[in-house]
Amino acid sequence: MDILNLKALLIAVLIFVPIERLFALRPGQKILRKAFFNDLIYALFNGVPISLGLIAAVTLATGTVGQLIPVSFSSSISSQPFWLQVIEIIAIADIGFYLAHRMFHAVPFLWRFHAIHHSIEELDWLAAHRVHPVDQVLTKSASLVPVYLLGFSSSAIALFALIYHAHGLLLHANVKLNIGPLRWLIASPQFHHWHHAHERAAYDKNFAGQLSFIDALFGTMYLPGKAVPERYGVDDPIPPTYVEQLAYPFIPKGKIHEAPNSSDA
Ligand SMILES: [Zn+2]
Repeated sequence: MDILNLKALLIAVLIFVPIERLFALRPGQKILRKAFFNDLIYALFNGVPISLGLIAAVTLATGTVGQLIPVSFSSSISSQPFWLQVIEIIAIADIGFYLAHRMFHAVPFLWRFHAIHHSIEELDWLAAHRVHPVDQVLTKSASLVPVYLLGFSSSAIALFALIYHAHGLLLHANVKLNIGPLRWLIASPQFHHWHHAHERAAYDKNFAGQLSFIDALFGTMYLPGKAVPERYGVDDPIPPTYVEQLAYPFIPKGKIHEAPNSSDA
């Protein structure tokens, strides 16, 4: 077991379990809800393949394309004020995230990986961990490879990674959180819950991970007042356990028992 994941998980439990009790969007939803133990396995073990894949992608990019970037350019990036670097990283990384995420919805073969994440039927902070490693390595590479190539300082990237992780858990949490007009700028739980909605009007909307205004710019934002979705999930025949879910995208469609009315929407 990856000890770092265990520590991050314990901190998340201490923060998010009380927040979800105090500000529950669905007060009737149990902590030990459907697929809780499967998502716990993701939280404990899935970080290892994701980290290895991401390290490989960044090493490959910086060792090849990165060699073409003048040192004077990288040092002008890393010598900016720390806070400015963090804001720039969030913007650059989320544009990469938006484009990769949108592609995972649009390309049927890629959707098979991303459908694992959309199979969540009861959203909470723990469910955020249910992501296929191939999906995550490619999406996080789209976010982080440009950031590493441009030469941002490692401490600014580290703070970004912490903010990104905490924000990601909050987006999936079972919480009612009103951030007022800021919701048109920053991704809120309501914004991301609509991304998971099993409702036709909300399909392929709200792709951004942190900055909701990217969706506004690209015309993919869906925030109907204060409403929240009635249900989450997909019709795809996603199997119930971790190992089966990792294998799912690689199994030819004909070999999987299809649920009635299944679709790739
Ligand atoms: Zn998605």
